[in-house]
Amino acid sequence: MIKLESRPPVPDSLKSEKVKRIKNKISDKIQAGECLKSVDFEPYWRENDVKTSLWRYHHKKCCYCERKRDLKRESDVEHFRPKAKVTEDENHSGYWWLAYDWTNYLFSCKACNQEYKKNRFPLLPGGKRAFKERDDLSVEKPVLINPIDEIPEKFIGFDWQGSYGILVKAVGLDKAGRGHQTVNRLTAINDQNVMRQRAELVSLLQAIASIMISAKHCDNQTLISEYSEIIKTETSANKEFAGFRRAFFRALGL
Ligand SMILES: [Zn+2]
Repeated sequence: MIKLESRPPVPDSLKSEKVKRIKNKISDKIQAGECLKSVDFEPYWRENDVKTSLWRYHHKKCCYCERKRDLKRESDVEHFRPKAKVTEDENHSGYWWLAYDWTNYLFSCKACNQEYKKNRFPLLPGGKRAFKERDDLSVEKPVLINPIDEIPEKFIGFDWQGSYGILVKAVGLDKAGRGHQTVNRLTAINDQNVMRQRAELVSLLQAIASIMISAKHCDNQTLISEYSEIIKTETSANKEFAGFRRAFFRALGL
């Protein structure tokens, strides 16, 4: 997981009349005391402009596990705050008022969204959950890390020395346990497949690092400058597992 830049503009589909109509319909149902179901929400977040804009903005990767995803076959628009239900609170109707809110969308893989995150949205002790549109979201204290609003590197590190190099496990770094819960319970970041895919990178990163370390040792300025560029490219935001790649070089002081 890496920090993403500020969001692109709201796609036209989310400003359309049909979205206004469905928002009003949902709001009316809530006012009438009806319980909402997933089918009450027309999936306008799957409109081409919404999905494509998010996908490009997230560097064609899942915002959580950082695997590259095919836009048509392997992608989901994930509601950071779940729209119709909250697993941790059976009395909650979901964050229905954010169902069509651009700021509540992230691009994710199906494993992160459908197998791990689902309708989970736990809060830290002391967090005050929002139940209705005017409630203050800033006092909620979500456990799940949001890669747009926060710096994931503060919460998530990686262990590439355990498991004999077969798996690279993500580990939580913060005392409150947000990183730990994010990687182990709320996303597929520590799914076996994802850990294995990260491990496949280790030999390449080690090879780059060892040349850079030798170049520095010999004060070979040409090689230092060449490998600085290589490290920059290999840790750029559009690379798979950029969060892990950055942690790897950072740990070696590179
Ligand atoms: Zn994912």
